[in-house]
Amino acid sequence: MNGIKEKTGMIFDIQRFSVHDGPGIRTIVFFKGCPLRCDWCCNPESQVFTKQLMVIQKNCIHCGMCAPICPHGAISYTPEVTIDRDKCTNCGKCTDVCFSEALTMTGQEMTVGELITELKKDEVHYRKSNGGITLSGGEALSQPEMATALLAACKEQGWHTAIETTGYAKREVLEKLLPFTDLVLLDIKHLNSVKHQKYIGKPNELILKAAQVIAEFPGVELVIRIPVIPEFNDSPEEIAAIALIAKQLQATRINLLPYHPYGSNKYGHLDMTYLAADIDTPSTSKMTILQELVEGIGVPCKIGG
Ligand code: SF4
Ligand code: SF4
Repeated sequence: MNGIKEKTGMIFDIQRFSVHDGPGIRTIVFFKGCPLRCDWCCNPESQVFTKQLMVIQKNCIHCGMCAPICPHGAISYTPEVTIDRDKCTNCGKCTDVCFSEALTMTGQEMTVGELITELKKDEVHYRKSNGGITLSGGEALSQPEMATALLAACKEQGWHTAIETTGYAKREVLEKLLPFTDLVLLDIKHLNSVKHQKYIGKPNELILKAAQVIAEFPGVELVIRIPVIPEFNDSPEEIAAIALIAKQLQATRINLLPYHPYGSNKYGHLDMTYLAADIDTPSTSKMTILQELVEGIGVPCKIGG
């Protein structure tokens, strides 16, 4: 691939020393932007494709530096620092004067070359632990050229590559990216497309087709992940239906991810509402029953990860 180092993408985080997103010690690159809208999303800052201003009230020291800087008059004090999101263009000028980091921008345009420089800092850990790089999000497949270029550049370095994905991508996108991918951690959340549309904002047909494409692609390991969400997909029948598909796809295993309100505090930072606040975390005994059910169908199963 020519010029892959210059390809750019919108990235919102780089997380080092992860041990849950593929084998060994890994660095996770989080892509900004996602076509789905799960109420329980633990990264609300990942949903839109552009930069966003985040406000962390507890960091504010009420110095009054930010409001006069804003070219659009979007900042007021009530006495908390308050952003008029209709006026804010996410220009970031206020973050330059907020030294207490109450105001920060999420999202940064980065090149593949810049990312490889960052990722190389942890190379010794990948090598010692048989780890590598995992692309996450958001949805990395929604920035397909950048995701493909980054995976190709990682492969040039000899690193193991993984992608965590919703699978909401066309065959053409997958066929370009999978030659540079060792492992796909694919979310399958529900087999009923109507329910999928209602709770997640999109039907599931594209995702199920993607699962088939990944499963048939030579040399790529497939792991299915199911976020277990009470009242959405936590019945034995719903989990068993996904397990049967995983078996047919010859997935290496299923990871059952119990709902947890991770990231709920970040919704306030973006003036968003966390819609999953009333959901209870599934009990350990419930998760164990579901794990045994999946294993009984013939698919290795792990809780978490
Ligand atoms: S990001 Fe720009 S437009 Fe938005 S509040 Fe800050 S200075 Fe104003
Ligand atoms: S610049 Fe930062 S610390 Fe100062 S008032 Fe604005 S948000 Fe608060």
